[in-house]
Amino acid sequence: MNRFVLTVIALTLLAGLYFPADLCAQGQSRYVTLQCNSRDLLRDFNDNIDLGRKLGHLIRNNNIVTVEDEVLAKLDAIMEKAEVVLDMFPKNLHISVVLLGTADDVSQVFARKYGKRAQHIAYYSLSEDTIYISVEDAKLEVIAHEIGHAVVDHYFTDRPPYTIHELMAQFVEKHITD
Ligand SMILES: [Zn+2]
Repeated sequence: MNRFVLTVIALTLLAGLYFPADLCAQGQSRYVTLQCNSRDLLRDFNDNIDLGRKLGHLIRNNNIVTVEDEVLAKLDAIMEKAEVVLDMFPKNLHISVVLLGTADDVSQVFARKYGKRAQHIAYYSLSEDTIYISVEDAKLEVIAHEIGHAVVDHYFTDRPPYTIHELMAQFVEKHITD
Protein backbone atom coordinates (compact mmCIF):
# COMPACT_ATOMS: atom_id res chain seq x y z
CA MET A 1 0.00 0.00 0.00
CA ASN A 2 1.47 3.33 -0.93
CA ARG A 3 1.41 6.42 1.18
CA PHE A 4 -1.43 8.03 -0.82
CA VAL A 5 -3.75 5.08 -0.20
CA LEU A 6 -2.87 5.11 3.50
CA THR A 7 -3.59 8.83 3.68
CA VAL A 8 -6.97 8.35 2.02
CA ILE A 9 -7.85 5.54 4.44
CA ALA A 10 -6.72 7.63 7.42
CA LEU A 11 -8.76 10.62 6.27
CA THR A 12 -11.81 8.45 5.68
CA LEU A 13 -11.51 7.02 9.18
CA LEU A 14 -11.07 10.50 10.64
CA ALA A 15 -14.09 11.77 8.73
CA GLY A 16 -16.04 8.80 10.06
CA LEU A 17 -15.09 9.80 13.58
CA TYR A 18 -15.75 13.46 13.04
CA PHE A 19 -19.04 13.67 11.17
CA PRO A 20 -21.19 11.50 13.45
CA ALA A 21 -20.25 13.91 16.25
CA ASP A 22 -22.40 16.47 14.50
CA LEU A 23 -25.36 14.14 14.39
CA CYS A 24 -27.79 14.03 17.24
CA ALA A 25 -27.40 10.55 18.66
CA GLN A 26 -30.61 8.58 18.93
CA GLY A 27 -31.19 9.29 22.58
CA GLN A 28 -33.73 7.40 24.57
CA SER A 29 -35.50 8.04 27.84
CA ARG A 30 -38.36 6.34 29.63
CA TYR A 31 -41.02 7.77 27.32
CA VAL A 32 -39.18 9.08 24.30
CA THR A 33 -36.78 8.12 21.52
CA LEU A 34 -35.33 11.32 20.14
CA GLN A 35 -34.19 11.78 16.54
CA CYS A 36 -32.58 14.74 14.86
CA ASN A 37 -29.87 15.36 12.33
CA SER A 38 -27.84 18.11 13.89
CA ARG A 39 -26.49 19.25 17.22
CA ASP A 40 -27.61 22.82 16.50
CA LEU A 41 -31.19 21.65 16.11
CA LEU A 42 -30.99 19.86 19.43
CA ARG A 43 -29.53 22.92 21.14
CA ASP A 44 -32.14 25.26 19.64
CA PHE A 45 -34.94 22.92 20.64
CA ASN A 46 -33.61 22.81 24.18
CA ASP A 47 -33.44 26.62 24.28
CA ASN A 48 -37.01 26.94 22.95
CA ILE A 49 -38.57 24.55 25.46
CA ASP A 50 -38.83 26.51 28.67
CA LEU A 51 -40.54 24.33 31.28
CA GLY A 52 -41.31 27.22 33.58
CA ARG A 53 -40.88 27.14 37.33
CA LYS A 54 -43.08 24.21 38.37
CA LEU A 55 -42.19 21.72 35.65
CA GLY A 56 -38.58 22.87 35.71
CA HIS A 57 -38.45 21.91 39.35
CA LEU A 58 -39.27 18.31 38.39
CA ILE A 59 -36.06 17.83 36.42
CA ARG A 60 -33.75 19.65 38.81
CA ASN A 61 -32.63 16.45 40.51
CA ASN A 62 -32.09 14.52 37.28
CA ASN A 63 -28.57 13.53 36.35
CA ILE A 64 -28.20 15.96 33.43
CA VAL A 65 -24.81 16.11 31.72
CA THR A 66 -25.47 16.75 28.02
CA VAL A 67 -28.00 18.82 26.07
CA GLU A 68 -29.53 15.55 24.99
CA ASP A 69 -30.02 14.51 28.64
CA GLU A 70 -31.74 17.82 29.29
CA VAL A 71 -34.06 17.56 26.28
CA LEU A 72 -35.04 13.99 27.19
CA ALA A 73 -35.63 14.96 30.83
CA LYS A 74 -37.85 17.82 29.69
CA LEU A 75 -39.87 15.57 27.36
CA ASP A 76 -40.36 12.99 30.11
CA ALA A 77 -41.48 15.71 32.52
CA ILE A 78 -44.00 17.03 29.95
CA MET A 79 -45.26 13.48 29.36
CA GLU A 80 -45.80 12.89 33.08
CA LYS A 81 -47.52 16.24 33.50
CA ALA A 82 -49.76 15.56 30.48
CA GLU A 83 -50.81 12.27 32.11
CA VAL A 84 -51.67 14.08 35.34
CA VAL A 85 -53.61 16.80 33.47
CA LEU A 86 -55.66 14.17 31.61
CA ASP A 87 -55.77 11.73 34.53
CA MET A 88 -54.80 9.04 32.02
CA PHE A 89 -51.83 6.79 32.69
CA PRO A 90 -51.49 4.37 29.78
CA LYS A 91 -49.10 1.45 30.16
CA ASN A 92 -46.04 1.00 27.94
CA LEU A 93 -46.17 4.55 26.67
CA HIS A 94 -43.17 5.23 24.46
CA ILE A 95 -43.07 7.49 21.42
CA SER A 96 -40.55 8.96 18.99
CA VAL A 97 -39.91 12.68 18.67
CA VAL A 98 -38.31 13.87 15.43
CA LEU A 99 -36.80 17.36 15.43
CA LEU A 100 -37.02 19.18 12.09
CA GLY A 101 -35.74 22.64 11.27
CA THR A 102 -38.81 24.51 10.10
CA ALA A 103 -42.55 24.22 9.50
CA ASP A 104 -41.72 23.63 5.81
CA ASP A 105 -39.74 20.53 6.78
CA VAL A 106 -42.69 19.27 8.84
CA SER A 107 -45.07 19.93 5.95
CA GLN A 108 -42.78 18.05 3.57
CA VAL A 109 -42.71 14.98 5.81
CA PHE A 110 -46.50 15.21 6.12
CA ALA A 111 -46.95 15.53 2.36
CA ARG A 112 -44.64 12.54 1.71
CA LYS A 113 -46.61 10.36 4.14
CA TYR A 114 -50.16 11.44 3.37
CA GLY A 115 -49.89 12.78 -0.15
CA LYS A 116 -51.46 16.12 0.74
CA ARG A 117 -50.04 19.45 1.74
CA ALA A 118 -50.84 21.01 5.08
CA GLN A 119 -49.09 23.69 7.06
CA HIS A 120 -48.11 22.22 10.41
CA ILE A 121 -45.56 23.38 12.97
CA ALA A 122 -45.94 19.96 14.56
CA TYR A 123 -48.05 16.84 14.31
CA TYR A 124 -48.40 13.48 15.97
CA SER A 125 -48.57 10.52 13.65
CA LEU A 126 -50.97 7.99 15.16
CA SER A 127 -49.74 5.18 12.94
CA GLU A 128 -46.05 5.79 13.71
CA ASP A 129 -46.33 6.87 17.36
CA THR A 130 -44.15 9.79 16.36
CA ILE A 131 -44.20 13.55 16.89
CA TYR A 132 -42.69 15.66 14.12
CA ILE A 133 -41.94 19.18 15.30
CA SER A 134 -40.43 22.33 13.80
CA VAL A 135 -37.63 23.46 16.10
CA GLU A 136 -38.02 27.03 14.88
CA ASP A 137 -41.61 27.10 16.18
CA ALA A 138 -41.13 24.81 19.18
CA LYS A 139 -42.31 25.90 22.58
CA LEU A 140 -43.70 24.18 25.64
CA GLU A 141 -47.38 24.48 24.64
CA VAL A 142 -46.77 23.08 21.14
CA ILE A 143 -44.94 19.95 22.30
CA ALA A 144 -47.39 19.53 25.23
CA HIS A 145 -50.30 19.53 22.74
CA GLU A 146 -48.72 16.78 20.62
CA ILE A 147 -47.74 14.75 23.69
CA GLY A 148 -51.37 15.11 24.78
CA HIS A 149 -52.41 13.40 21.53
CA ALA A 150 -49.93 10.59 22.27
CA VAL A 151 -51.29 10.02 25.80
CA VAL A 152 -54.90 10.02 24.57
CA ASP A 153 -54.03 7.66 21.73
CA HIS A 154 -52.37 5.15 24.06
CA TYR A 155 -55.11 5.36 26.68
CA PHE A 156 -58.11 4.39 24.58
CA THR A 157 -58.40 1.03 22.89
CA ASP A 158 -61.16 2.50 20.70
CA ARG A 159 -59.89 5.80 19.33
CA PRO A 160 -62.18 8.72 20.28
CA PRO A 161 -63.58 10.92 17.51
CA TYR A 162 -61.11 13.42 16.05
CA THR A 163 -62.76 16.46 17.70
CA ILE A 164 -62.56 14.87 21.15
CA HIS A 165 -58.94 13.83 20.53
CA GLU A 166 -58.19 17.44 19.61
CA LEU A 167 -60.08 18.87 22.61
CA MET A 168 -58.06 16.71 25.01
CA ALA A 169 -54.77 17.75 23.37
CA GLN A 170 -55.83 21.40 23.72
CA PHE A 171 -56.65 20.75 27.37
CA VAL A 172 -53.08 19.51 27.96
CA GLU A 173 -51.68 22.51 26.08
CA LYS A 174 -53.69 24.86 28.29
CA HIS A 175 -52.90 23.26 31.63
CA ILE A 176 -49.29 22.11 31.15
CA THR A 177 -47.92 24.86 33.41
CA ASP A 178 -50.63 24.60 36.12
ZN1 LIG B 1 -53.99 18.61 17.79
